[in-house]
Amino acid sequence: MSQAEHLDHSDNCIFCKIVAGKIPSKKVYEDEEIYAFHDINPTAPIHFLIIPKRHFANLMVADSADEALLGRMMTIAPRLALEQGCRPGDTGGFRVMINNGADGGQEVYHLHMHVMGGPRQWNKN
Ligand code: 5GP
Ligand code: ZN
Repeated sequence: MSQAEHLDHSDNCIFCKIVAGKIPSKKVYEDEEIYAFHDINPTAPIHFLIIPKRHFANLMVADSADEALLGRMMTIAPRLALEQGCRPGDTGGFRVMINNGADGGQEVYHLHMHVMGGPRQWNKN
């Protein structure tokens, strides 16, 4: 990422404020570089977001230096999904989604991975 994109936080960014504790959230998980919390407007019985603590708009500004972080977000998803009640195995599972830019349906410009699961009709499409 460019120098500007490497800023630790953006003053106008709602998810940076959540990471900083300035806006409350229902925490799912936290470590040095990752924060996860429940989506305020869930579209599935289980719906939480995994984000990098460092401000990062979306995948379009990622580069090879971000591979480890993105990989960790991916590999932590199934563990957190199970902890949050998603059903195990191929008859259970969950959906992972990252929206990028306006055409991708992105509304909050701090990279976030949606994790959605739980038994219901929501996931028929
Ligand atoms: P996007 O469309 O950018 O992929 O998704 C943004 C998501 O962030 C939405 O699902 C929305 O419900 C969630 N969201 C927006 N503002 C807040 C907030 O202040 N707190 C929480 N927990 N989720 C939020
Ligand atoms: Zn941010």
